Amino acid sequence: MLETLRRQSTADYQRADAAHHLHPFTDYKSLKAEGSRVMVRGEGVWLWDFDGKKYLDGMAGLWCSQIGHGRREIADAVHRQMCELEFYNTFFKTTHPGAVELAEQLAMMTPEGLNHVFFTGSGSEANDTVYRLVRHYWALMGRPEKKVIIGRRLGYHGSTVAASAMGGMGGMHTQGGMLPDVHHIEPPYWFDLGGDMSKEEFGKKAAIWLAEAIAEIGEENVAAFIAEPIQGAGGVIIPPDTYWPEVKKILAGKDILFVADEVISGFGRTGEWFASDHYGLKPDLMPIAKGLSSGYLPIGGVMVSDKVADVVAEGGEFFHGFTYSAHPASCAAALANLKIMREERVVERVKEDIGPYLQERWRALGEHPLVGEARMLGLVGALELVPAKPGRSERFANTGEVGTLCRDISFGNGLIMRAVRDGMIIAPPLVISHDEVDQLVALARKTLDDTLAELRRRGLM
Ligand code: PMP
Repeated sequence: MLETLRRQSTADYQRADAAHHLHPFTDYKSLKAEGSRVMVRGEGVWLWDFDGKKYLDGMAGLWCSQIGHGRREIADAVHRQMCELEFYNTFFKTTHPGAVELAEQLAMMTPEGLNHVFFTGSGSEANDTVYRLVRHYWALMGRPEKKVIIGRRLGYHGSTVAASAMGGMGGMHTQGGMLPDVHHIEPPYWFDLGGDMSKEEFGKKAAIWLAEAIAEIGEENVAAFIAEPIQGAGGVIIPPDTYWPEVKKILAGKDILFVADEVISGFGRTGEWFASDHYGLKPDLMPIAKGLSSGYLPIGGVMVSDKVADVVAEGGEFFHGFTYSAHPASCAAALANLKIMREERVVERVKEDIGPYLQERWRALGEHPLVGEARMLGLVGALELVPAKPGRSERFANTGEVGTLCRDISFGNGLIMRAVRDGMIIAPPLVISHDEVDQLVALARKTLDDTLAELRRRGLM
């Protein structure tokens, strides 16, 4: 750590942090009462805090560290770029070699037809770019009345205004993150909404909610449908196998743009480079971020299909852009990350080896008395915590209380899992080893046991 920044104790950091630092997605009062965790080092799937406590990073940073922490090659590539050209913009007919190389690689590796990229600094900026591009496209097509964007409840597309509006988090909407002409349908969340239906039946029904929304709003008014192939921040909602085929049928032949938000599901998370490859989706627009650079530096983008790019190309100036679009150092980090992923066959390994290995052990946690469902695709999964089995009929009364308790116990045990409502979610670095998977599952099991014991002590089970 930089000596000039070193303080004496975790408490020193916590005091200054609480006094001056407004954290994302945080209840400031409770943070002040409890104090932040102070992370200082990372290597592979492991993190260390200021007191030397070691954690298995079950969330890959924030769904982004595909290649794990502390890879020297990325730091070296960024250092080289910084020494040569630390920054120049890509506005006003200017580019740089890293931007060109990265754009070309992305065009080659993303699903067919997505041959253009608009670079951003984050996933949120990518989704605000989507909103602007969708509106711009339909205006250029002479159909400005096509304005409504359909998203899904519990969808997450970011925290900028258009991104949060298209997302389906009620709390964000009530804090100013909502826009007119955005409509939300229910998600394909069988565990919560499936009732007596089989997963297959429910998947079709959830797709029909889209057809019904389009019919109600009128196809002539609908600009786009935006969806994460797997809803991440909403609780790792993996749709039933029948959902995407049915959605594809519903959208086929309709004049509605399809946006697959691959900010979490991209770059190998599902065992394919993109979840669109896994589900056979053909998006018109595809936001990306996170795993693009494994989080080493901020970078995102929107992959844009020929269909949309050809229209926009004839439309005059697109009045939109970010100072840090295609930041040279971020491009260097992304290129070095993609090189490692290709050379080490990171994605193939998720599909053929480490994905199935963790999935089998994760699903076995479904037998724990506290777990109603254990689901996973590739290396992204969830546990639904329930007060009684079989799992889907009963839920804990005060939603989120048990999830938060379990999350805190997990941290205490040295495993970083995230809580969403009363579910625990994980998305570990894709380079996790077999031995580390065994450790992850053992820590998760211990965490469930400890949580169960605490709930019994409190009389909640
Ligand atoms: N889209 C999805 C699917 C996401 O999960 C996220 C972030 N978790 C975003 C967009 C926003 O990305 P960022 O936080 O980089 O703005």
